Amino acid sequence: MKMEELSWEEFAKMKKSIRAVLIPVGSVEAHGKHLPLGTDVFAPLEISRRLEKKLKRKGIDIFIAPPVWYGHSFVLNLYPGTINVKADTLRRYIRDILDEFALEGFKELIILNGHGGNIYPLVEAAEEIAGKHDVEILLINWWIDFREEISKICSSQGHAGEDETSVMLVIAPGLVKMDKAKGEKKALPVRVIKKDIGLEVFPDGVNDNPRGATREKGEQILEIVSDKIAEILVGRL
Ligand SMILES: [Zn+2]
Repeated sequence: MKMEELSWEEFAKMKKSIRAVLIPVGSVEAHGKHLPLGTDVFAPLEISRRLEKKLKRKGIDIFIAPPVWYGHSFVLNLYPGTINVKADTLRRYIRDILDEFALEGFKELIILNGHGGNIYPLVEAAEEIAGKHDVEILLINWWIDFREEISKICSSQGHAGEDETSVMLVIAPGLVKMDKAKGEKKALPVRVIKKDIGLEVFPDGVNDNPRGATREKGEQILEIVSDKIAEILVGRL
């Protein structure tokens, strides 16, 4: 159920029998020269869509909240089109959103995150709310939590890499420029925090080789990830 499509009256009526709300969170950020800036929101939105259908088949309804588009992206901020929200701003913004949903009466707040830079602020916001309300918050970082499954489908994983590119080939093939898909895995022995570190770790906004991406792999990833989340939620809702 997409929340933004309901009137307040419909929402008020439906929430009486719905325990969970899922909030997709992403970023507006450089994803190589081959993927759109909205990649980290497009993926959670598609996973949410599939998840909602799967849960419905099991007789469970959830609300899908409108996504939070802007996220925290320090390392990729040097590339045009990355709109970085400071970690503390994001933490407080997400905290207020979670607070509102808890006050609306939801007991299960699910954050479906599409972007690595958001993780620390999301955890902090969730801890604050969990300390205040009687709610359970699930933070799902889809590309990390289901890494084992994804690694059986893709030969590698990474920012704008084989996995994300495959997924985007399913969601919006017209926005993927495979002729511009190139890159390689870069890793530093320790985390280095400095201005323009993105040039070193994410040249052109990529950290993986996306050449092996295919629509078939993307379809498999979206299915297994939404299946896995559905399984987790069936046990909790
Ligand atoms: Zn991404």
